[in-house]
Amino acid sequence: MGRLDAQPLSGKSKPRVAVIGSGAFGGWTALHLLTLGAQVELIDSWGPGNPRSSSGGETRVIRAIYGPDRIYVEMVKRAYELWEKIIAASGEPLYTETGALWLHRKDDAYVRSSVAILRELGFPVDKLSIAEAKDRYPQIDFRGVHSVWLERRAGALSARQACGVVRDAFQKSGGSYRQARIAPGAIAGGAMTELRLDDGTRIEADAYVFACGPWLGKLFPEVIGDRIRPTRQEVYYFGTPAGSQRYLPSHLPIWIDFGERIFYGIPDVHGRGFKISDDTRGEPIDPTSANRAPTAEGIARARHLIAERFPELANAPLVAAEVCQYENSPDGHLIIDRHPGASNVWLAGGGSGHGFKLSPAVGEMTAQMVLSGKEVPRLFRLDRLHDEAHRKTQFESK
Ligand SMILES: Cc1cc2nc3c(=O)[nH]c(=O)nc-3n(C[C@H](O)[C@H](O)[C@H](O)COP(=O)(O)OP(=O)(O)OC[C@H]3O[C@@H](n4cnc5c(N)ncnc54)[C@H](O)[C@@H]3O)c2cc1C
Repeated sequence: MGRLDAQPLSGKSKPRVAVIGSGAFGGWTALHLLTLGAQVELIDSWGPGNPRSSSGGETRVIRAIYGPDRIYVEMVKRAYELWEKIIAASGEPLYTETGALWLHRKDDAYVRSSVAILRELGFPVDKLSIAEAKDRYPQIDFRGVHSVWLERRAGALSARQACGVVRDAFQKSGGSYRQARIAPGAIAGGAMTELRLDDGTRIEADAYVFACGPWLGKLFPEVIGDRIRPTRQEVYYFGTPAGSQRYLPSHLPIWIDFGERIFYGIPDVHGRGFKISDDTRGEPIDPTSANRAPTAEGIARARHLIAERFPELANAPLVAAEVCQYENSPDGHLIIDRHPGASNVWLAGGGSGHGFKLSPAVGEMTAQMVLSGKEVPRLFRLDRLHDEAHRKTQFESK
């Protein structure tokens, strides 16, 4: 299927748009559509940031180091503006600034390739000597680390809570929200005519945006299919010593440790504990039916890293855990595009373990694409994925 000609809805005085999925991508898209003048209905099976969704759980990292991919740094910059705006409007403290510490056991080329872009776009980043790093962060054992970078403007966003705040802002501005499961309607004559709810109700709109995260492949098997592969990702919270401040954001930044596996962690931002997770892609997962208990092997791997890098926490108790999923695109880049066979259907997803921070900018890009036909960067379009060889070689490397 080729790309259809753009048919922007801007000609209509108040186009009706249905957004399916109130996770980070769908919630922000709905809010932007409303601000741009559309009449919007937002629909979700289980609600914003629900525990089956990829936007569920306590926190997400926002950082600007993106290797040589300038487009993401620009999106992070825009996203920061929009996060700040909604935090000011809602009064909800959705962001905790911590900085991000990049620990390299081998090459730090990824960070170095970002430095010029970061400086140009206003994200301060410092290279620390190992001695300086040891001095600043005595709770970290830097053995095996050859290079340390500190990104000063980085922090933790409250994930599930932010999705609720965005949905509330959407409703306060006149948007309509309902909890229901949607099945895409038939596509006839190059357009989708309606949506079907489980109870048989039908919803008609001028345009439909599907922001269904890890469910997108099942909803659109031909157009998306395994171009979005959900993988199981476990997140652990370990208890810190009584009265200790060393694991609070005031004393410890977010950290990323590039070893055989990439582990990252977030200091104790909400009193839930010291968060650690393995970024390695896990087993395939069904987001609807998966049992979300953490595995003994995953906990053991996290403990091993903690014993090596945060020795004081070697025997810390596991106090909480979350099992989430990445919704991986083949090359790790977002998917934001029109359905190639239906001119009034748009798809937004493929956050691939890094989409949350970008969601305000993703929503803006998607809303502008729907309402005014603004092109999205080729990097995010579906036709970049047509080459099978490209798909296979890129998937494991991110
Ligand atoms: C453990 C983990 C750590 C992560 N860490 C980071 C990080 O540090 N920084 C970062 O930027 N990103 C991170 N990410 C990635 C980021 O969280 C996701 O890419 C992003 O939240 C995806 O949002 P989404 O709206 O596309 O999907 P989702 O949040 O999954 O939303 C999709 C929604 O669609 C609804 N839905 C699906 N099908 C239907 C249907 N048929 N009818 C009605 N509703 C439907 C679902 O209920 C769901 O609410 C992480 C992800 C995980 C899992």
